[in-house]
Amino acid sequence: MKGLFPTNKFEQIQTPFYYYDTELLRRTLNEIKAEAAKHEGFHVHYAVKANANPKVLNVICQAGLGADCVSGGEIRASLNAGFPARKIVYAGVGKSDWEINLGIEHDIACFNVESIPELEIINQLAEAKGKTARVAFRINPNVGAHTHAHITTGLAENKFGISMNDMESAIARAAELKNIDFVGLHFHIGSQILDMGDFKALCNRINDIQTRLEHLHINVKSINVGGGLGIDYQHPNRMAIPDFKAYFDTYAKFLNLRPGQTLHFELGRAVVAQCGSLVTRVLYVKEGTCKQFAIVDAGMTDLIRPALYNAYHKIENLTSEEPKETYDVVGPICESSDVFAKSIDLNKCHRGDLIAIRSAGAYGEIMASCYNCRQLPKGYITEEI
Ligand SMILES: *Cc1c(COP(=O)(O)O)cnc(C)c1O
Repeated sequence: MKGLFPTNKFEQIQTPFYYYDTELLRRTLNEIKAEAAKHEGFHVHYAVKANANPKVLNVICQAGLGADCVSGGEIRASLNAGFPARKIVYAGVGKSDWEINLGIEHDIACFNVESIPELEIINQLAEAKGKTARVAFRINPNVGAHTHAHITTGLAENKFGISMNDMESAIARAAELKNIDFVGLHFHIGSQILDMGDFKALCNRINDIQTRLEHLHINVKSINVGGGLGIDYQHPNRMAIPDFKAYFDTYAKFLNLRPGQTLHFELGRAVVAQCGSLVTRVLYVKEGTCKQFAIVDAGMTDLIRPALYNAYHKIENLTSEEPKETYDVVGPICESSDVFAKSIDLNKCHRGDLIAIRSAGAYGEIMASCYNCRQLPKGYITEEI
């Protein structure tokens, strides 16, 4: 499937760089919109933290999605890309005052509040501006997603959210505060979730919570179920677009929305991961004692997921058709964890070959760093190449 890449045009560009296939991104967004539109009251926000490249954000904004932000910087990036403030929601355990003020000034749709002290501060800051802030409480549903320990967030005791036991008192406190408008509940159980049973478990939990709140005559306008839908890292071509139908249908089937309630989603990875590749060049092929190394010019500073989470990315040699050989693909950074893959088969590598590290559109460019005084990788969309 090398034909998917404009390889001859890549030759002109300094490596390493990110390449975003906007045609695939648009098809993905169309699929999301079409599947969500089949269900009344479904609203999709894009989790900006997955990829905040302005050109990528712009394409997503044009598709009409809202934005889900986890910092003031992301609120700014979303506003700059054209997302209307009324479609911006803002979560995070440690919102600083300037970040809260930014949200209040722009009248964002909702603060997803993660603690009572935070609620009190939002009320104070809103009062100082003579405004009312809409808030949802992020509730810890104690639903486990069967994914990597570092990216599982929905279990009972972690820094995120408010426990179910404290939910009623948090809502009662919100009702007392003059500059707070309680609008709903927020959840997010983890990332790279492919088992629809995890989302079903979340639905069941939310149904129980809703019944509890109904007995107390508490009105909930919106339910936000976060993101977390995974992608197929093994088969970026065959499964280029995640199964959004199964995802939205799961919520439609198992979640009992009350009349007039809206249901919000915050998808990150599933929107952008497959459209992005990190393109790098082979610097040296080094023969070890028992293996050979393809040393490339990208490193963990450009894409940290393999080093951080032991994540798998499919790797392809874009410029060789020679029989496959086995390589460890490693970067130039002075860390032994700077390895993209071990013992994988690639068409025989030579100095100068272009290598694509696939499914890198989410949590790739945005997590890049300047460690070792390296330059941040640039990102290009199809139209610029
Ligand atoms: C990270 C995050 C998301 C997006 O997660 P994905 O796994 O990329 O879909 C959504 N909501 C919140 C609150 C998050 O922190």
